[in-house]
Amino acid sequence: EKKFVINFSAGPAKLPEAVLRQAQKEMLDYQDTGVSVMEMSHRSADFSKILNTTEQNLRELLDVPDNYKVMFLQGGGTGQFSAVPLNLMKLKPGHTADYLVTGTWSAKAANEAKKYGTVNMVLPATKKYTSIPDASTWNLNPEASYVYYCANETVHGVEFKDIPETNGVPLVCDMSSNILTRPVDVSKFGVIFAGAQKNIGCAGVTVVIVRDDLIGQAMDVCPSVFDYKVQSSNNSLYNTPPTYSVYIMGLVFNWIKSQGGVASMDHNSQVKSSTIYNVVEESDGFYCCPLDPKCRSRTNLPFRIGSIEGNDSLEKKFLEEATKAGYLQLKGHRSVGGIRVSLYNAVSVEEAHLLAGFMRNFIADNR
Ligand code: PMP
Repeated sequence: EKKFVINFSAGPAKLPEAVLRQAQKEMLDYQDTGVSVMEMSHRSADFSKILNTTEQNLRELLDVPDNYKVMFLQGGGTGQFSAVPLNLMKLKPGHTADYLVTGTWSAKAANEAKKYGTVNMVLPATKKYTSIPDASTWNLNPEASYVYYCANETVHGVEFKDIPETNGVPLVCDMSSNILTRPVDVSKFGVIFAGAQKNIGCAGVTVVIVRDDLIGQAMDVCPSVFDYKVQSSNNSLYNTPPTYSVYIMGLVFNWIKSQGGVASMDHNSQVKSSTIYNVVEESDGFYCCPLDPKCRSRTNLPFRIGSIEGNDSLEKKFLEEATKAGYLQLKGHRSVGGIRVSLYNAVSVEEAHLLAGFMRNFIADNR
């Protein structure tokens, strides 16, 4: 029997136990085929069925309109934020793109885009990444080919609560760390992409959702595997897709449906995150969250212990005791330090309550 743990990893992250058990059951013999999904041709009837059902389920869960293509590709979030300028930079003659940089991941995406065109920084430069400046101050360029942002910054914990208004310029969004944790109006976006390894599966597959009119505009240098037109017209089968990762993601979509869909993930996300933030708020400065309450992430909650700069020995003690008690992977990203609690879809409300209890006890013992 497995020992008691709760996995709060920022990714690759916890998967629902029911999904792992089903994968285990089907590992050697997928539905009487006599082979594992890992051993199937990506062009076989059995795998086609997995691919198509997975796409249908995602379309249903996210209510994806018919004028959008859904692709399941390799390359991760990094591959896909690199593919964005390759596909969209030349939509307008200026070859300029607007980037809202609110943390590590949008900063990396902006640097990648600079290889292919001019990047306009919409927000003033900062290294702190603790808030999102008010939209009235944004420096948007109406001639931009697209506007790019990251819905949830996994390292810094900055999450957009609203979809940015771009006045008709196509909007591109990295949803790697909050996809399917809240409903979104897909019709407001030009492109949405998300790596699977946080909320919807294991590493290897990246979901890419693109509006039809943005397909077929890639730069000549765009590698075919990253070209939206090539991949969408081949139903993600231009090259071998990450077949097993697609299968696991399909199991997760079924699990989300069985739990009540995105509405229920949204509700749980709200409850779980406020359970932890409440402990921080009520701790009288023992736990310190640097983030503006208006943009605090519900899926990645960074905080310090002892003071806003963090007390190294207390944080070390917290992590050691947490690990011993079974609360795993709570260390903040190495670039910001401190603690980070990741509360993706597979982490239950009850598990968040257990961690909150541990955090309260830690105050009592260490104040
Ligand atoms: N975007 C975000 C928001 C992420 O959190 C990550 C990974 N942590 C990435 C992009 C990069 O994803 P990958 O490692 O799959 O390239």
